[in-house]
Amino acid sequence: MSSLRNVIVIGSGPAGLTAALYAARANLKPLVIEGLEAGGQLMLTTHVENFPGFTDGILGPDLMAQMRAQAERFGAEMTRGNVTAVDTSGPPFSVTTDAGVVQTRALIIATGASAKLLGLPSERKLMGRGVSTCATCDGFFFRGKPIAVIGGGDSALEEATFLTRFASHVTVIHRRDSLRACKVMQDRAFASDKISFEWNTEVLEVQDGGTGGVTGVALRNLKTGAEKVLPIDGLFVAIGHTPNTALFKGQLATDENGYLTTNHGARTSVRGVFACGDVQDHVYRQAITAAGSGCMAAIDVERYLENQESQHA
Ligand code: NAP
Repeated sequence: MSSLRNVIVIGSGPAGLTAALYAARANLKPLVIEGLEAGGQLMLTTHVENFPGFTDGILGPDLMAQMRAQAERFGAEMTRGNVTAVDTSGPPFSVTTDAGVVQTRALIIATGASAKLLGLPSERKLMGRGVSTCATCDGFFFRGKPIAVIGGGDSALEEATFLTRFASHVTVIHRRDSLRACKVMQDRAFASDKISFEWNTEVLEVQDGGTGGVTGVALRNLKTGAEKVLPIDGLFVAIGHTPNTALFKGQLATDENGYLTTNHGARTSVRGVFACGDVQDHVYRQAITAAGSGCMAAIDVERYLENQESQHA
């Protein structure tokens, strides 16, 4: 790593890697700090059928591997380090990782968003012991077993449908009586004889029956108040995401949900700092829109740096 970079990209999902590709092709030799969850949320996805150019779809991890290789081919430098602090009071800006501090003339934030949890102590205690936020990662462990998915959005129904490959039965637990998921996802779920729904229902507790692994969930019907226990071996929480902005707290403007505010392309509230992907988008949240915004961020960086140079010439 050289001491002063042109641009550092924090995050390696579709937004970060597309930003890296464009910045690399602009000869800016970007450094990509991939983070602990390299590849982002698509690493937790199975088939991506809506990324243009892949007629038969592509697996999320394969798409990310291709994007990474493409950015590297043009000179993007990848590092696995995790960012522990960022100082945007520059330029130059400083980024602290496990490996030390790196200075940069411009910064692209592509830290994405993380899965939300219900917030139950039992959910936390049993995370990785039957509670999961990733069907792709953990579905295999529930071969022939009954499981449940919480949520009523696209993620919940996508996970429920995927999990029917392994589970004996999938119960979708939703707090309302109508789904937020798109029609195609709903039709697929309703057509499956392995999926049933618990409507207007909340999870009171994840139970382990003293086994250390999930044995069931205590449920309450929000309309009738009736309570019951649903015996399951696995619980998949698919209730949305929170933007990963903790590193920038007090430094960059956010909206009321904590997403970074961007204007005129990918510009944040600090000159020289740009943001792309899910960390600044709670509306579209698609791989293709994330990639598009990554392209915008890199072009904005290129123009910003050119401007800086002409001012100092
Ligand atoms: P989402 O659309 O925000 O849905 C979250 C779901 O979880 C909602 O049904 C919500 O209930 C429920 N929920 C939220 N907090 C809860 C809580 N504390 N307890 C119980 N239930 C709770 O999130 P998402 O499904 O992750 O989707 C996010 C975005 O990604 C969407 O734009 C979606 O279209 C997109 N996406 C697309 C695909 C695809 O195209 N292949 C796949 C996955 C996601 P309410 O409905 O009552 O609010």
